[in-house]
Amino acid sequence: MADFSRLIAATADTIAAHAEELTALDQAIGDGDHGLNMKRGFEAVRAEAKGFAAKPLPEALKAVGTKLVMTVGGASGPLFGTLFLALGKEMPGEPDRAGLATALGKAIEAVAARGKSQIGQKTMLDVLQPVYEALAQGKTAEEIADVADKAADATVPMKALRGRASFLGERSIGHMDAGARSTALLVRAVAETVEGH
Ligand code: ADP
Ligand code: MG
Repeated sequence: MADFSRLIAATADTIAAHAEELTALDQAIGDGDHGLNMKRGFEAVRAEAKGFAAKPLPEALKAVGTKLVMTVGGASGPLFGTLFLALGKEMPGEPDRAGLATALGKAIEAVAARGKSQIGQKTMLDVLQPVYEALAQGKTAEEIADVADKAADATVPMKALRGRASFLGERSIGHMDAGARSTALLVRAVAETVEGH
């Protein structure tokens, strides 16, 4: 497992580098705040990186989740917060791949419960679920990052059934879901950091 502070830096870097893109995606079928929301949250996590990285992995993940809940805002704040809080709750202290996959599966269930959402509704869940499956199947970090990108692309033709984009009905078709894109960015950052070690 890569050093936790490297994971924090990699995720905050990719969100900062793509904030405008995330904003543009959210402008098309939402209210255009997703890039700023995510950047605010991940910069707040970055500011605490030292303290968080000193904690055991489950506690570090919970601290990230709590910080995201407090700082991201919007619909996605509580949902990304729940993802990391639940990952921390379910994660063994020194996870192997099976432990990681099991924890992610349970964290996805927690996000779905919190969002009253499910796969196929054009949300972050449409990236998280294929990533979970790829992880459980033993795919490499690089393959998992590709799965995440393709899953975000696959939200383009979907009709949004949850979140602000659902207010647009059929007009949500033809645009990528912003939360799906940010999830894919986070997955690639984690995969590349873990693989680099
Ligand atoms: P808001 O919609 O409040 O402006 P953001 O723009 O930060 O919040 O986040 C929007 C993203 O949150 C969407 O692109 C979608 O991926 C995700 N999202 C919104 N509602 C839900 C939900 N009920 N379940 C899962 N994901 C959701
Ligand atoms: Mg928004």
